[in-house]
Amino acid sequence: MTSKAKKPMAKHVVLSAEGISITWDDGHSSIYPHRYLRLRCQCAECVGEWPRYSTIDESRIGVDVQALDHMQVGNYAIQFLWSDFHSTGLYPFEVLRKQCPCPECRGETFGVRKSS
Ligand SMILES: [Zn+2]
Ligand SMILES: [Zn+2]
Repeated sequence: MTSKAKKPMAKHVVLSAEGISITWDDGHSSIYPHRYLRLRCQCAECVGEWPRYSTIDESRIGVDVQALDHMQVGNYAIQFLWSDFHSTGLYPFEVLRKQCPCPECRGETFGVRKSS
């Protein structure tokens, strides 16, 4: 297993009313609904620390939560400032790319390549 898959890099991040759109260095672009990513925050405040690691409590997250700002962290992650004043979660590029909600990526995740 020496083949290195190239790690995804986010080239461009745009926050809009519709969602958070990320353009990747391989040309792919992803649009994440704001709340979709907020619910995927993996920080200790949201999901607890090992060994009490749990999933995020969705009822705590408002339906209209939005990312107000974003910041790139090193060469590997993005940090968002959310409208509920939460900002401690890091979203590594690889995780973000895996969470891409587009049909193409969802298909690949489940090992089903659609033939066109
Ligand atoms: Zn969090
Ligand atoms: Zn995708």
